[in-house]
Amino acid sequence: MSVRRLDFGALENGAKVEAVELTNAHGVSVRLMTLGASIQSLSVPDRNGKSADIVLGYRTAAEYLSKPQYFGGTIGRFANRIARGEFALDGERFKLETNDGPNHLHGGSSGFDRVLWKLEPAWRSAPESAVFSLRSPDGDSGYPGTLDVTTIYTLNERNELTIEYRATADRPTLINITGHSYFNLAGEAGSSDVMEHRLTLDADFYTPVSSTLIPTGERRAVQGTHFDFRKGEAIGRHIRDGRNEQIRYGRGYDHNFIVNGPAGKLRRAARVEDAKSGRVLEVLTAAPAIQFYSGNFLDGTTIGKSGRVYRQGDGLCLEPQIFPDAPNHPDFPSGRLNPGEVYTNKVVYAFSVLR
Ligand code: BGC
Repeated sequence: MSVRRLDFGALENGAKVEAVELTNAHGVSVRLMTLGASIQSLSVPDRNGKSADIVLGYRTAAEYLSKPQYFGGTIGRFANRIARGEFALDGERFKLETNDGPNHLHGGSSGFDRVLWKLEPAWRSAPESAVFSLRSPDGDSGYPGTLDVTTIYTLNERNELTIEYRATADRPTLINITGHSYFNLAGEAGSSDVMEHRLTLDADFYTPVSSTLIPTGERRAVQGTHFDFRKGEAIGRHIRDGRNEQIRYGRGYDHNFIVNGPAGKLRRAARVEDAKSGRVLEVLTAAPAIQFYSGNFLDGTTIGKSGRVYRQGDGLCLEPQIFPDAPNHPDFPSGRLNPGEVYTNKVVYAFSVLR
């Protein structure tokens, strides 16, 4: 394992962004940066051993703030949507910013992906890891309680990149932290979108949404629907079916799938295969659910690292999480964190190749 520290330029206000690159003996290399405790690049070999960067992102740090797409970021305090930006905790009502139509999305416009985290010196003693920390003050983005958060990235020689999110609070609060990498297993600089990637989701149920992408509260069986990815399906197969209300609301897939098997236990949630390059990604998590987002809001106005225009469907996100809008659905897994408890969310990206 080799570890390299580098500067990743500066933001418009002059603040420096640091980065760490972890590289294993098999040619997997990940660059992590203090802005958003984000994955900035992730190079993985194809079936012939040729590496390519398989995550979308920007060339410079400043672009991450000027035109955010949450590329590779740590998302918090509460990933995904909270209806009307409103929730109650112990009888007290809270009002958050509405930065996505009528709703609150991904912690708001100064969420965890937009701030500079501290790169902890722990990486010296554990060279296979990079540890980022952040103190989010009481009232940050409208959420109660001081929150201490860490994001730990670990790369091993089995071509697994593990991300662990942890947080503690000094008063009851809400939490739902995830990662927001956009994958294109053919390579970020390549010429194809992800419509032919074959996706498997280990989920018998998903949570349908309203027109503003808030769960209706129903848990719907995927059986016999465009949401049945249990045996593997090309992402593009049903994505243009305009008769399907859920596809129309999401402009494609933008839905929360309930991962089979008990939450709290690391299990596979998703598998993505790209037949051309042979690259395979498996996502394991202990979270109760995973958001599958097919890059529907990439609209051709974003220019990526290698100078390529990103268009709809150029990347897919798989975001392990609790359910969207959980604070307003008492029967969804709870996003509550009490003082004295440790919140964790663990995600493993395991890479391999088809032979
Ligand atoms: C959400 C999308 C949103 C995207 C922003 C995803 O997690 O589900 O609705 O547009 O993040 O990049």
